[in-house]
Amino acid sequence: MNSREPCKIKEELDFLKRTKLGFEKAVQFINAEIRPVEKGVVKFLEQPFRQLIVTFPVQMDDGSIEMFTGYMIQHSRSYEPTKGGIRYSPEVDLDLITALAFDMTLKCRVADLPYGGSKGGVCCDPKKMSRAELDRLTRRYTYEILPALGPDCCVPAPDMGTSEREMGILYDTYKMLNPHSPYASAVVTGKPLSLGGSKGRKEATAQGGAYVLEEAVKQRHIEGLSYLKNAAVVVQGYGNVGYNIANILYEDYGCRIVGICDSKGGIYCQDGLNPKEVMAYKNASPEQSVVGYDGLQHLTQEKLLTSPCDILVPAAKETQILSNIAKDMEAEVILELANGPTTNLAHEILIDKKVSVLPDILANAGGVTVSYFEWLQNKAGESWDLSQVKEKLQKKMATAYNNIVETAKNYNLDMRSAAFVFAVSKEIEVLSARGIFP
Ligand code: NAD
Repeated sequence: MNSREPCKIKEELDFLKRTKLGFEKAVQFINAEIRPVEKGVVKFLEQPFRQLIVTFPVQMDDGSIEMFTGYMIQHSRSYEPTKGGIRYSPEVDLDLITALAFDMTLKCRVADLPYGGSKGGVCCDPKKMSRAELDRLTRRYTYEILPALGPDCCVPAPDMGTSEREMGILYDTYKMLNPHSPYASAVVTGKPLSLGGSKGRKEATAQGGAYVLEEAVKQRHIEGLSYLKNAAVVVQGYGNVGYNIANILYEDYGCRIVGICDSKGGIYCQDGLNPKEVMAYKNASPEQSVVGYDGLQHLTQEKLLTSPCDILVPAAKETQILSNIAKDMEAEVILELANGPTTNLAHEILIDKKVSVLPDILANAGGVTVSYFEWLQNKAGESWDLSQVKEKLQKKMATAYNNIVETAKNYNLDMRSAAFVFAVSKEIEVLSARGIFP
């Protein structure tokens, strides 16, 4: 676990295996350095407590019937409800959703939220489906995972390929099938404002990441980066999280957004790009891509990730920063807003290069934190101002950041290892306090 040990590890490309490795190492570390861990805890905490796999039909616009497979994995019931996003992507499978659910448990411990982790998903390609087909898919998927859902059992939120539209439909389906459920709006977060969504939820993951970055820079924890004004930023992924972080860093912190990419490729401009103008171009382009903006050269993912910048923000998906990319990367800091973007070997290389890595379970916890605020507002029948949401979010993110820094300092760990040790330690604490039923 000690970041000063020479790098001897094998590169693990499987996100679930990487998550389990990180967890097991954290348990070993806690056992050796902090307090004894009871035998069997690894086996207990490593397994999700409920795995729902559903196969269901959806009528397509041309009248044909397609079958889809969906998942709802609830990882930990240390606290309930469980919380996590719903992903629509052709890459969704049991292992990916299990890894993401596990990550959610750890993230909730880092952010100090009273939730267990869960994750849902459907294996589908939303880019190739019509709005009406996606609505029917969302309704049927919601119906299929109904045994798990509930404001005090399992509360989904948006993730890759889903948005407030799907969350609104999930709420409507749940409410129609549970007409007498009190606080039914608390069954899902990231809903439209008109259905009880929270102000600031759409930008929350990015905003929370910006607060963590701000804290790290303010406390002079990033070698080679003393202020954010004019810092050069490259963003990988230009969906909800990627667009919002580019926009927040540009508008609120005066950063230069020098590079942006999406699944079709990237663009780079040393003088800086205007995130809103790039998004308007992407939305209008037939390819729905940033490629071609302002006649800029089309760059590959690899080229963009290794282009000159101070801050690199992976905001696309897991397993994107591999060792070959880490070796050539020029950034001073990686703000991990995607889940699991960096492999274990790439991480070791970055640490050896003295690059600061702000790990996903800390850096992107702003999304679930504002989801928690939304759930509290729904239960209390309240609607908070945006300034109130942002103020509470900043406080939560700064506290989480400082807790992980303190753990890192106390035990001489890098930030990712410290975040795992902090989270796993908290999870074990809850487990010991609750005991084993019956
Ligand atoms: P999204 O679907 O809105 O956007 C994803 C973007 O990534 C799209 O622009 C897509 O083109 C791009 N992309 C896909 N594959 C790519 C590749 N190989 N290279 C470059 N770009 C690629 O999804 P999102 O909600 O913005 O989520 C992005 C990441 O952030 C995911 O890892 C997600 O789990 C994580 N995250 C999201 C939230 C949230 O609140 N939405 C919260 C925490 C973490």
